[in-house]
Amino acid sequence: MQRVAFIGLGRMGYGMAGRYLDAGFQVSVWNRSKAKADDLIARGARWSTSPGDAAIDADAVVTMVADDDASRTVWLGTDGAASTMKAGTLAIECSTVSYDHARRMSRELNARSLIYIDCPVTGLPDAAASGRLTLLVGASAADLEKARPFLEPLSTTIRHFGDAGSGTVYKLINNLMGAIQIAGIAEGLAIAEQAGLDMKLVLDAVESGVAASPQVIRHSKRMVTRDFSGATFTAALRHKDAAYAVALAESLLRDKPIVSSAAVEAYAKAKAIAPDDDEGRIIEIVSQPKASTS
Ligand code: NAP
Repeated sequence: MQRVAFIGLGRMGYGMAGRYLDAGFQVSVWNRSKAKADDLIARGARWSTSPGDAAIDADAVVTMVADDDASRTVWLGTDGAASTMKAGTLAIECSTVSYDHARRMSRELNARSLIYIDCPVTGLPDAAASGRLTLLVGASAADLEKARPFLEPLSTTIRHFGDAGSGTVYKLINNLMGAIQIAGIAEGLAIAEQAGLDMKLVLDAVESGVAASPQVIRHSKRMVTRDFSGATFTAALRHKDAAYAVALAESLLRDKPIVSSAAVEAYAKAKAIAPDDDEGRIIEIVSQPKASTS
């Protein structure tokens, strides 16, 4: 039986770890706060006292944590996963991290004879729990083949972009374009509201207009109705992803990425007010009316 260690049981990781249990893997789990593991333990996962404890004897270690700092902690911190992993074990990073971080982790873990693969994902928590994610992989072709048995339970689509770091490049531009669209819809809808337009009519026109993307359609409806139930992605995570993308842009492009930087600024404001709220609530910030001068 294949053994997988799963580290990070937030909205995404909880469902992903459950996929391995459903697929018959032997699963050990660790999360900073233990309560999120209770249901997985009841379903047969082994609770571990640290990422290093989870990784003992694992064939693959999969991480799904918030950001660069969390990723470094769980791989290389005290009792990190790398401290117990056997040579040749797969280190599969599903968290969305910065490009520099993915490259650095690849170097540092390869130097310990581990196989680091960056494998950020697209799809919401419901897709994570039902194995319908799209995986964006950076790895050599040979390493991807070794990892494939551990990727298939999670996904319907595996996109291989090239060597380590390349999956993260695509993930960051994907989420940057999302950040720009979501911040843009919020401002567009806020203008329409303050101008007194019939918002049902506006919504209908947006959904069938040329600017409609799946992202625009999903968020415009939630913003117009102010229905943010079932929050899946927070302002803090959106800001993090856009900021990592802008850092990458600044390392590659001659000119400052103006639109992208504006999206980072918009989400910095949303994060400062309510970091753990749904990213769509940005409309509540931008829709404040201008103070009357009369
Ligand atoms: P989440 O619910 O906020 O979970 C974050 C996870 O990271 C939790 O397990 C948390 O532990 C852990 N964590 C945070 N800081 C840590 C630290 N310093 N040390 C150890 N663990 C730490 O986030 P999520 O929505 O599952 O997202 C996880 C990753 O997937 C992020 O990189 C995100 O950008 C990416 N992603 C999310 C979505 C989505 O729709 N939500 C979609 C695609 C990709 P605690 O439980 O103890 O706080």
